[in-house]
This record gives sequence, structure tokens and C-alpha cells, in this order.
Amino acid sequence: MKIAILPGDGIGTEIVAEAVKVLNVLDLKFETETALVGGAAYEAHGHPLPESTLNLARSADAILFGAVGDWKYDKLERALRPEQAILGLRKHLGLFANFRPALCYEQLTSASSLKPELVAGLDILIIRELTGDIYFGQPRGRRIAVDGHFPGAEEAFDTMRYSKPEIERIAHVAFQAARKRSKKVTSVDKANVLETFQFWKDVVTEVHAQYPDVELQHMYVDNAAMQLVKAPKAFDVVVTGNMFGDILSDEAAMLTGSIGMLPSASFDKNNKGLYEPSHGSAPDIAGKGVANPLATILSAAMMLRFTLDQPQAADRIESAVKAVLSAGLRTADLWSEGTKKVGTREMGDAVVAAISGNFAGKTITKT
Ligand code: NAD
Repeated sequence: MKIAILPGDGIGTEIVAEAVKVLNVLDLKFETETALVGGAAYEAHGHPLPESTLNLARSADAILFGAVGDWKYDKLERALRPEQAILGLRKHLGLFANFRPALCYEQLTSASSLKPELVAGLDILIIRELTGDIYFGQPRGRRIAVDGHFPGAEEAFDTMRYSKPEIERIAHVAFQAARKRSKKVTSVDKANVLETFQFWKDVVTEVHAQYPDVELQHMYVDNAAMQLVKAPKAFDVVVTGNMFGDILSDEAAMLTGSIGMLPSASFDKNNKGLYEPSHGSAPDIAGKGVANPLATILSAAMMLRFTLDQPQAADRIESAVKAVLSAGLRTADLWSEGTKKVGTREMGDAVVAAISGNFAGKTITKT
């Protein structure tokens, strides 16, 4: 098995280093190869997703990705901005299904911005369609308006679109995932206003006929945003389009205590996966050694479980994360009175120690 390691920009390099450290202590057989991506690749090769990086990602069995982006690239033409690298990888590798589990660890209930009783035991899975919708729809651009409220004025436009097969395949992914959980899917749309999402709702309903054992609920996105903070535990699997999924998964992240806790996986039709934290490159804290590496470490655990077929190794990582949280270790994003503030490297070292048996006398044995 070969893992492509793409740290990227900002805190990407810091958090991926910790995840690699954790993978290396597990004593598994895999090969890794590291490449530049995002702003770092632009600086070195003049493009955020150079051919060599794309080829490595294509040839690898799995990809561990950090994050890309920095405000200093905001003035570059769009095609050369760092964010195009992750969009390009999703597009070129056909990574259409994004899994974002939002799990509130018992030890972090007080770090959530919601009351502990609302988030204790929270375990929901947001499945976001990743290669369609308004983020990829053509045409898009700027022009002089010929109609609308201000004909003759400069305007910008994007295109929201979904084809039937695109909706069908993500709906199948969601119903199949729900079968392994509590058999309940909430499909989030805006069918009351948008033609694209009326179509989404119709197609999801059609696919549901093949999964009579799974309960399907439809919900408008504005209501879903409200319900997520009102009664998040009422959800189990949430399936939605690219843009709504982008927003709702960040909202769900805060329920878990911090966006620094949220792993994610993106799959193609053959289950090849790109694994990354749900957050960005956090330029505001980059280089300070304070970023939370746990979302990336937990993404590596997802990689072991879903692509590398090493569920026991994944369990060991997840148990080690729980052990360090139970011991009161917190990066700055999670810190509160009575807990011990640690930096990125210390948190990674603690997870490594918990796996290898040198952490507070506890060994995380194979389960
Ligand atoms: P962000 O997720 O980078 O940061 C949002 C806030 O969360 C910041 O205050 C940041 O300090 C904090 N944060 C994020 N990750 C953290 C961690 N691991 N530990 C502690 N705190 C953390 O989002 P943003 O500020 O909107 O975007 C910054 C850059 O990242 C932009 O260039 C954006 O385009 C890019 N971005 C990239 C990806 C990706 O690579 N997949 C995703 C989102 C944003």
C-alpha cells in the first residue's frame, strides 16, 4: 500500500507531521511519498496542483492531505490559487462522496458551544456531495448584465446544477452508510426555492425505494441549520449537496468542541480515499505550534479503517485520542480552566505515547 502525503500550507505541515508520526508508530507495512500542494506547490512549480503531485495522488492507494490556502494568494487569478489544488484533486480523482463524522467525545462536552446535555453522546455523519453543485457548475464568470435589476451593470454569476446520476450515486452511498448505523437518513435541500434541489429531493426519494429498511426524512437547509443547534442528536446520517454540506459540516464541527477535532474522508466509486481534517490552513495560527492535530490524526485512523483495511490499528488511534483527552490534555482551541494546555507537537507525542504504552502508565492495546 502506498500513501501519498500532501501537507499543503499553513498549519497543514504541522498537523500532517503529527499524523505521520502516529502512523509510523503502529508498525504497519506501507510506503509513503510526500509532495507539495497548494501555495507551497505554487511557490516551487508555479501551479497549486502540479502534474507530479496529481500523478502521485493517482498512483497512491490513499492520500493524507493537510490543508491549503493563505490570504497572501487572494490576489492571484483563481486558477492559480491554492484552494484549486483540493478542488482539482476531488475533480480529477472523482472523489464525489465526502464523509464528515461529527462525534462529541465525552471528555469534550464542556468545550462545545452548546449545553452539555445537547451534545453528550453526539454521533452524526454528514455525507456531502463533493464534485457537483454550484462549486463546479458551468458557466460561471463576470459580465455586463443584459437583464435583472440593473441591466448594464457589472455582475458575477455561478451555476447550480446536478445530474440524475450524480444524485443517485450519493443517495446510494448515504442509504448504505445508514444501514451500518441507525438506519435513518435526512436529505437536506432547498426544494421550496431551487429547481436543482426539487430535482435532488425527487431523485433521493426514487433511490430510497431500494432501501425500505432505512427511514428517509427531507429537510430544508435553513431548518437543518436550526435543528443542528437545537437538537443535533435527532440526526444520524445527513446527506446533502456540495455547498449546503460545506456549511452544515462546519456548523456540526462546533458541536464537537472545535473544528480541530473533525476528520473527513472523500471517496471515489472504488472506495479510494483522500483523508483530511475538515478545517483549512488556519493562517492566523500557522507556525505557532498551537494547532490541534487530532482531526488529522483521526483522519489517518479513518484511512486505516476504510482504505488500508486495518480496523484494529484505527481503533488503537481512536482509543489513544480518548486517553489523552481523558488525561486532560488540550490544545488551545479546546482548552478550559482545569485542563492542561499543550501544543501541536506535544499532543502528537502524547497520542504516540498512548499507542506505544508510555503515556501515564497506560497502554492502548489492540482491541
Ligand atoms: P480555517 O478552517 O483555516 O480556520 C477557521 C478558524 O478555525 C481559524 O480561527 C483557525 O485558527 C481555527 N482552526 C482551524 N483549524 C484549527 C486547528 N486544527 N486547531 C486550532 N484551530 C483551528 O478556515 P478559514 O480561516 O476560513 O480559511 C483559511 C484558509 O484555509 C483559506 O485560504 C481557505 O481557503 C483555506 N481552506 C482550505 C481548506 C482545505 O484545504 N480543504 C478548507 C477550508 C479552508
